[in-house]
Amino acid sequence: MSMFCFQCEQTAQGKACQMAQGVCGKKADTANLQDELTSCLIELANCNEKNEDITKLLIDGLFVTITNVNFDNKSIQKFIDKVKAHIKCDFDFDIKTVWDCDEDIRSLKSLILFGLKGMAAYAHHAKVLGYKDETVDDFFYDALKAIANENQQDELVSLVLKTGEINLKCMELLDRANTETYGKPVPTKVTTNIEKGPFIVVTGHDLHDLALLLEQIKDKGINIYTHGEMLPCHAYPELKKYPHLKGNFGTAWQNQQKEFDNLPAPILFTTNCIMPVKESYKDRVFTTSVVDYPECVHIDENKDFTSVIEKSLELGGYKEDMEMSGINGGQVLTVGFGHDTVMSVADKVIDAVKSGAIKHIFLVGGCDGAKPGRNYYTEFVKQAPNDTLILTLACGKFRFNDLDLGEINGIPRLLDMGQCNDAYSAIKVALELSKAFNCSVNELPLSLVLSWYEQKAVCILLTLLYLGIENIRLGPSLPAFVSENILQFLVEKFKIKQIKTPQEDLKEILG
Ligand code: SF4
Ligand code: SF4
Repeated sequence: MSMFCFQCEQTAQGKACQMAQGVCGKKADTANLQDELTSCLIELANCNEKNEDITKLLIDGLFVTITNVNFDNKSIQKFIDKVKAHIKCDFDFDIKTVWDCDEDIRSLKSLILFGLKGMAAYAHHAKVLGYKDETVDDFFYDALKAIANENQQDELVSLVLKTGEINLKCMELLDRANTETYGKPVPTKVTTNIEKGPFIVVTGHDLHDLALLLEQIKDKGINIYTHGEMLPCHAYPELKKYPHLKGNFGTAWQNQQKEFDNLPAPILFTTNCIMPVKESYKDRVFTTSVVDYPECVHIDENKDFTSVIEKSLELGGYKEDMEMSGINGGQVLTVGFGHDTVMSVADKVIDAVKSGAIKHIFLVGGCDGAKPGRNYYTEFVKQAPNDTLILTLACGKFRFNDLDLGEINGIPRLLDMGQCNDAYSAIKVALELSKAFNCSVNELPLSLVLSWYEQKAVCILLTLLYLGIENIRLGPSLPAFVSENILQFLVEKFKIKQIKTPQEDLKEILG
């Protein structure tokens, strides 16, 4: 059996995964089921019926097909059956017609579809907390319809940018959902050391799941450590108030197979990225929501985490306190520089820029992944001059977030703004700074050096393009689904550049 998938950065030979298994470990039958689910979602959107149940199906269905979310055929099939039960019209669609069409049209439709998938993840998290936006919800219908029916290049280009525009609304919605529910993030030091005794590792983005688990283990003598995507939760007042939310275990998602090997604790995956689970820790992996993996226990929507708690008590954790570190040997990760915190020191930043104490601001962020080329980002941050400020966010920060880069006029040189959805914070800060300096974002002494891996990064990139932000440096490689013509268009209009070496790029940026 073969497959076709080119939605993420690690796709085979930089073209597409087309054999029996993708680079991420997704088997061909799973990839084909995900294609069938995507086709059904497009059919459902084309039936012109709109209600809360259908919107939830569209959003969660798209989320299921994101890289490293769901490897379980039974669960995907169940989802397909649910979607089919809601299709009440005769609209037939097969996503393979997109994979086989003219490469520029395919490229534009892929940008829209993959951007939509990423946006679905953010909309899902906002909905879980009771937040929704009609414009965002409606766009899922409109864009899915257009993927089936629109073949004019100009119209598709507009829709690509519209996806970025709506995603900005969606990220703002999620920011509001998180901060109104759990408080505004505050700067917080997070230890990488693990105390002896039972613990649970929680990863993914779902703050609601984490909050429920924190409540359920109160008084049980179990500690919680975050992993990868969950690190920013330590900065939210309503989560950090729990004394058993102790610290962060390990580094970014792509190191999980090594880090979870024989771990004396269960791991709860609330969203991606889940990698193929090794036998050495399969019995301690628990999934919930849209994440699923064959033979691992799935916690249903009742969110009763008893099985995770029992596993934690059974395994007992480490016998002694364990000293651990980030990838550069540091043992403290400082998080919590969301837009409110950064803007509270905006005057200091502006003065420092005006006086020349801060020469340049870099936003170095985005995804992490297994490719050796991603060391670029560590080296870039290490080599950035001492009079530059580094804003960072998302998984890629684990490459350097344990480094102590010092301060400029009392402002830490390295400011961790959160996860990928917190790109909204970075955008807000950039827009506020441009107002303060009375210039456009492109005229600020600010450069974006981004890494991408999966579809959430695609929607963020589309938002930056919608905002007209130029000169973004992107790596480690450019998306395989962007055709040469469309790439040329993006380079001409937005001056997108592929990363070179840290030395070359720093020299070029700083002149
Ligand atoms: S998600 Fe990425 S690695 Fe996995 S099959 Fe698709 S392109 Fe390949
Ligand atoms: S930063 Fe990238 S890899 Fe990490 S969760 Fe976000 S989109 Fe996925």
